[in-house]
Amino acid sequence: MSELPEGFVTASHIILFEESETSRCDVCASELSPAGEMEESHDLPGRGLLVWSRGAERRYQEPPLCASCAVAIGVTALQRWETEEDEG
Ligand SMILES: [Zn+2]
Repeated sequence: MSELPEGFVTASHIILFEESETSRCDVCASELSPAGEMEESHDLPGRGLLVWSRGAERRYQEPPLCASCAVAIGVTALQRWETEEDEG
């Protein structure tokens, strides 16, 4: 049995497939704060809203988003909206 050098850290691939109760951001996959910890932090996770229609069927999906991604997506959507209004 060989000895690992000091400071050597191993991580198993299981971490990648970790099935945890913490939700992850749909965009950057960063961990979102569990509901209980949100009071201390103002870094509230947001939610995106995807809407698409397939024939007569309309589907809604709310992927979990971390605060920074939610803001980034919201700003992008707003900018596009403003651009389209200017062009119209
Ligand atoms: Zn994110």
